[in-house]
Amino acid sequence: MEVVDISKVLNIAEGFVKAGAKWHFHMLQPGCMFNGRPQNAFVIEDVSEGNSYISYSIAPHDDLRNACESILGSTPDMPQTDLSEDETALISHAKDLRKAKKDWHYHSLDPKCEFNEKEDKWTFIFESEESGDVREMFYDSEPHSLITELDKLKS
Ligand SMILES: [Zn+2]
Ligand SMILES: [Zn+2]
Repeated sequence: MEVVDISKVLNIAEGFVKAGAKWHFHMLQPGCMFNGRPQNAFVIEDVSEGNSYISYSIAPHDDLRNACESILGSTPDMPQTDLSEDETALISHAKDLRKAKKDWHYHSLDPKCEFNEKEDKWTFIFESEESGDVREMFYDSEPHSLITELDKLKS
């Protein structure tokens, strides 16, 4: 993963778009299991070519996230399915953490993502740094319903 200056990230992302690449990005906060530094990290990955870039900054770059989301375009409707028992348990765990004012975040990693150790599965990772809690679940397709429910708790 190549380290680049934060000012280059949007240009690189636009290059991905021009090349018709399949790409995505991650914002990694300090303490995240994928972030080895005490800064905020912004990662963009071209999963068609296997190129990825990382940029570190003191403050999180919400502006860059918004820009990346807008050039990625709207995602097609995400089909919702019934929640599994494990998912329901995770959602209530997330609610409890929120009540206790403990932060959490999640990653939904597509099979080609550099952070995903499973080559043929989506990996869903739920992290709560303060409670030292990491939960992993594996899927054949992205767990939209779980993501929708967790996002509701965040807002
Ligand atoms: Zn994380
Ligand atoms: Zn990724």
